[in-house]
Amino acid sequence: MSEIASARSLAREELLKFASVNKSVISGMQRLLHTAARALTMPAAFTALFNEEGVLQIHTWYGFDATSSPESAYLQADYSFYNTVQVIQDASQYPPFAHDVWTTNGGVRFFASLPILTANDTQIGILCILDSEPRRLTNDQQRLLHDFRHLAAEAILLRFETSINRFAYKKIESENENMKEQLDRVISGLPLPFITVDKTGGIQHWNRASSDTYGYTKNKATGKSILDLLAPEETKEKLEKLIRRVHNRRRFSGVELLLKDKEGNTHTMTCRLFPYFDAKGQVAFCALVTQSIPRVNKAELKLRRTEAEYKELSAELAQLKSVFLSNMSHEIRTPLTAIIGFADILSNEVDDSNKEFTQLIEENAQRLLDTVGSVLDLAQLEGQSLEINPVPLDLEEHTRTIVDSFQTQAEEKELDLVVECDPDTYTTAKVDPQAQTRIVRNLVSNALKFTRKGKVHIVVRTYESNVIVEVNDTGVGISKEFLPNVFNDFVQESSGLARSHPGSGLGLAITKRLVDLGGGTIEVDSKKGKGTTFTLSYPMHAVQALAA
Ligand code: ADP
Repeated sequence: MSEIASARSLAREELLKFASVNKSVISGMQRLLHTAARALTMPAAFTALFNEEGVLQIHTWYGFDATSSPESAYLQADYSFYNTVQVIQDASQYPPFAHDVWTTNGGVRFFASLPILTANDTQIGILCILDSEPRRLTNDQQRLLHDFRHLAAEAILLRFETSINRFAYKKIESENENMKEQLDRVISGLPLPFITVDKTGGIQHWNRASSDTYGYTKNKATGKSILDLLAPEETKEKLEKLIRRVHNRRRFSGVELLLKDKEGNTHTMTCRLFPYFDAKGQVAFCALVTQSIPRVNKAELKLRRTEAEYKELSAELAQLKSVFLSNMSHEIRTPLTAIIGFADILSNEVDDSNKEFTQLIEENAQRLLDTVGSVLDLAQLEGQSLEINPVPLDLEEHTRTIVDSFQTQAEEKELDLVVECDPDTYTTAKVDPQAQTRIVRNLVSNALKFTRKGKVHIVVRTYESNVIVEVNDTGVGISKEFLPNVFNDFVQESSGLARSHPGSGLGLAITKRLVDLGGGTIEVDSKKGKGTTFTLSYPMHAVQALAA
């Protein structure tokens, strides 16, 4: 059932229920009775309307005093009696009415009743003409009476319809009001700019988010044309067309529109436009939801995608780099090893004056070999392709072996190189022996490199449940400014032409990474001109730690 039909049916019910107060229908019926009685020269008339079950709902009299009218008796009559034309010339002679209070008590002798039928022959009531005298109708009067049957139906229905409709629309209107209020509440709470406009673009609803986005208050915006308020010249035609189409029941989403705010700044908004229907099923207005987020999202999405791609790419690059470096290092190492080997042979062949050159070849080739080795190590560490295998290792014993190999170098520089360790101290930690060798070698060789006089002493001890290897020197020291950078790749305190020591600046970077990888820590403490201490720390190997 359509909304209007159900509203009408409801209205009819309600009208009938409250018929006595419905002045329009009652007065219409009274006028009709008056006309009928006068046209037929009868003193009284009566009309009644029934509901669909035949129960009397409205009745109206003309010519009788309603309070003294014998309606109760009349109403007892069978409803079916009234569904055809009845003409009773003398009620006192007519059995159903003969003993009726109505007829016996006074008055009614002549009785003619007509069913009031609608155009589709539904009976909605009756119309009666009454006289206190027995009567016989002339042919003209009979025709007139029949005419009234249609006239009554039409007149009553017309009144009735109008009332019903007025009532129904009132209901719809009040429902519309409710709907509008509800809609207003919902719209005002929406986090997105939500605007409704009529056919011409006149703004009807304007929520808070619209004010926040476009800068106009609700009062300023309502009633204005959206085309004037928000559309820059290049958007006007498009927006106008869209609004027109929405009023023709079309809907659009994902439309990109350039809209301007109060300050005149333009924003590209993703818009959704759809019709809003009223209770009568008509397009009440065009709703417009604008959103700038998807654009931001798009940009964000692009950024995220770029980030992900970058990560993927950089992992791939790191892999490529490590492959490249290992190939390159092989390509460099092989000839370098040959150079070093042949330089060594040559040094035995050449005379003393040229020996210096072969030595230089050897030394520099060795440096190059070391650098290539370091670069490769770093590449491996960065590409996380370096695997370490920690095993329980006595760090005192291990450190002594390494330090021993530096003794000649220390003696050449006249430096004291000693390892100190309390013989009762348990110094086993779980470390990768190869990595640990690289670490200690780097630290000791730096200590020797950067110390001109004094000593380099290595202390192996324990602190809490850690084994500590400390490399101390009385060398040049590191400035406060440079200290935080010592573990960075390719950095040296003195660089360029001022470089006082050979080296690639990779040793400590590799050392730090190896220590981290092995689960240890490395710290540095230094004073310029006084000396430097590098402190390595590893968790003590657990078996002994428990036994201790
Ligand atoms: P390099 O191959 O240049 O020695 P490292 O990474 O081993 O590279 O060291 C980086 C820099 O840290 C060195 O160039 C030096 O300036 C400083 N450095 C390292 N160890 C010491 C030390 N024991 N005494 C003073 N300076 C040091």
